[in-house]
Amino acid sequence: MAMRFDGQVAIVTGAGGGLGREHALALAARGAKVVINDLGGARDGSGGSASAAEAVVAEIEAAGGEAITNAASVTDYAAVQAMVDQAMAKWGRVDILVNNAGVLRDKTFAKMEIEDFRFVVDVHLMGAVNCTKAVWEIMRGQNYGRIVMTTSSSGLYGNFGQSNYGAAKMALVGLMQTLSIEGAKNDIRVNCLAPTAHTRMTEDLGAALPLEALSPALVTPGLLYLVSVDAPSRAILAAGAGGFERAYVTLTQGVFITGEDAPEQVAARFDAISDRTGEIVPEMGAAQGMIELTKAQKAHS
Ligand code: NAD
Repeated sequence: MAMRFDGQVAIVTGAGGGLGREHALALAARGAKVVINDLGGARDGSGGSASAAEAVVAEIEAAGGEAITNAASVTDYAAVQAMVDQAMAKWGRVDILVNNAGVLRDKTFAKMEIEDFRFVVDVHLMGAVNCTKAVWEIMRGQNYGRIVMTTSSSGLYGNFGQSNYGAAKMALVGLMQTLSIEGAKNDIRVNCLAPTAHTRMTEDLGAALPLEALSPALVTPGLLYLVSVDAPSRAILAAGAGGFERAYVTLTQGVFITGEDAPEQVAARFDAISDRTGEIVPEMGAAQGMIELTKAQKAHS
């Protein structure tokens, strides 16, 4: 059965270009009414213009869909609340939030100004927090919501020159982990998307493939699944160039060590601690404590 979003309202941040634009076009093509949010600034977050978002709305309308623009910066909580009010006034609900807006201020940590670190964290992490907070009570009240955080391989695995960006992107994984637990009873499902695509953000990287092979449109099917009625929750979906993978935060079985020489034992048994045989994906943070207590109980029984 075709995946449809008829009757649903979606907010896509940073939807004036790149991945956000593709996500918004696809949601609208499949029946959703979409808020096209974009500040319209440069890649480093400077400046602003409504024209890119307006062009996306025009494209959706020309194809027979429904969309409105919004120029709030995701860093401005009052403006974000006003954006959500605008969607509620027009369409009466918000089913889907795609936290996609983002900026880059790459530099090695040695050369990075604190302000550039703070700014990138503010846009990616606090931007997603602001938008999610502004829709959370609405979704709880509806007993329905689908939220995606756009993370990155730079956060999950690190990337030279992106300490600010990587830290913000991994923070979104932590936000997703807890919100998926807290949202479950109201059928609010929260997931992360880790995309790879040729956009303005990655245009300097140089690609070994033709640019069409890295089209953002090849990421969007993964996003659509993560915001669909049948979405999973707490997934980290990697997507790019037609490849789809899933990332996990895992915990090894580990060992039990106490005593005077515990530091030396930790060093000596680090290979055993690191052994991935039988590793698990904990359902929640408390699982780590449970595993440790179980080891201690066994040792003391
Ligand atoms: P992009 O620069 O084309 O899109 C980002 C959009 O966010 C821009 O249109 C920009 O105007 C908007 N934006 C920036 N700051 C904003 C703010 N404060 N409020 C509202 N809108 C704002 O880049 P993209 O590659 O399409 O990036 C989309 C998302 O995907 C970002 O979160 C990015 O970090 C993430 N990502 C992209 C890649 C990739 O390979 N392109 C890889 C990993 C993660």
